[in-house]
Amino acid sequence: MAAIEKRSREDWQELDKNHHLHPFTNHKELHEQRSRIITRADGVYIFDADGNRILDGMSGLWCVNAGYGRQELITAASAQMQELPYYNNFFQCAHPPVIELSSLLKEVSQPQFNRVFFAGSGSESNDTIVRMVRTYWDLMGQPERHTIISRDNAYHGSTVAAASLGGMKAMHKQSGLPIPGIVHVDQPYWFGSDQALSPDEFGIVAARSIEAKIKELGADKIAAFIGEPIQGAGGVIVPPDTYWPEVQRICDEYGILLIADEVITGFGRLGEWFGSDYFSITPDFMPFAKGVTSGYLPLGGVMVSDRVADVLIDKAGEFFHGYTYSGHPASCAVAIANLKLIQRDNLVGRIKDDIGPYLQGKWAALADHPLVGDTRMVGLMGAFEIVKSKSPLQRFDQEQGAGGKCRDHLIANGVCMRAVGDTIICAPPFILSHGEADELIETTWKALDLTQAALAE
Ligand SMILES: *Cc1c(COP(=O)(O)O)cnc(C)c1O
Repeated sequence: MAAIEKRSREDWQELDKNHHLHPFTNHKELHEQRSRIITRADGVYIFDADGNRILDGMSGLWCVNAGYGRQELITAASAQMQELPYYNNFFQCAHPPVIELSSLLKEVSQPQFNRVFFAGSGSESNDTIVRMVRTYWDLMGQPERHTIISRDNAYHGSTVAAASLGGMKAMHKQSGLPIPGIVHVDQPYWFGSDQALSPDEFGIVAARSIEAKIKELGADKIAAFIGEPIQGAGGVIVPPDTYWPEVQRICDEYGILLIADEVITGFGRLGEWFGSDYFSITPDFMPFAKGVTSGYLPLGGVMVSDRVADVLIDKAGEFFHGYTYSGHPASCAVAIANLKLIQRDNLVGRIKDDIGPYLQGKWAALADHPLVGDTRMVGLMGAFEIVKSKSPLQRFDQEQGAGGKCRDHLIANGVCMRAVGDTIICAPPFILSHGEADELIETTWKALDLTQAALAE
């Protein structure tokens, strides 16, 4: 049965070092420190090769929302692989899982969404959108209208187009990005601003940087605006309440397509089915991936509104775009099982009314720690910011690596969270129990104390 040999941790690390180029990794550092080998997982816990049990406060990479070891997802994949492990949806073919999933996605999405285009990942979904958006405006007789506005510090994936949509300067620098026709405006990051304005005032100002860009370039050149309802990889940046309504107003006023990147916020993370529902916006596109299968198999896709889909269907002829694994049957079968599990166990409602408020309350109390300058959490997506001094507000020098130290103490004490600079971010599985939430918070207090002691040295 087992396709993988049993080896010692040291053997795994040695082979890994010699033959594996990791994504988003400094290899020199990795080679000195060696990789952490994760061998199995159950519920909200992952286990490393030494048998350490770690509470996964990141749901893998924001994806294992239903938790590990869910038999119905495993069975769905295995049964589908027996029945039909692969067939494509190109030309005029389809298979039951892709059809079933399409209609289920329509059911959980806002009413403007009746159709879905499948991809294998979030990055591919955003590449799809770049092509669809430009094709749409071509078909509308406005071929000049090709520029997409995004935001600094956004994350939309790692392919050339998706990384261009993203606003990560370090990513752009390594490969001559962004590609032409993608521009960036301010992010709605109040805590990272000079805090001269109230959050509500700041939200309006950040949104109006989109309007300023539209006026600068000409509305007849702007195809779309893309944003994550809450920025994830950028540091869980929760926009002020005023931000999204103003963005919606601007998109409506200038006729610009609105893309809500729901790769993290989709399928319940914020206590609503989508981040767009949470913020009451009505996007024209919703790229999704990650949580759609709880990460058990890769799958991405784009919910396409009738405004765009009707034009593509009527006027495009053939849209020359697709992936071999667009709507892979096993991935679709897992997605169906996953969405049904979320519905059956009312996990979205549980985040809204039960575990969400429970963890949020304890998370907010972390602000009492001398190192914690800001806390925020919506649904089960949160962050806190490590600061040198709260009043006046002072950050640590980046060389001190405060965030990285705290993350290392967290992991050493049995909780996995991520550091984005000095921001610690958290997105646990939806099945997190109250007891597990207590454990997560207690370990965080401990890690903060240890970080404080280390920084004082
Ligand atoms: C992870 C992520 C992506 C990219 O998805 P991949 O499956 O890694 O290609 C896109 N957008 C957002 C908001 C993400 O968090």
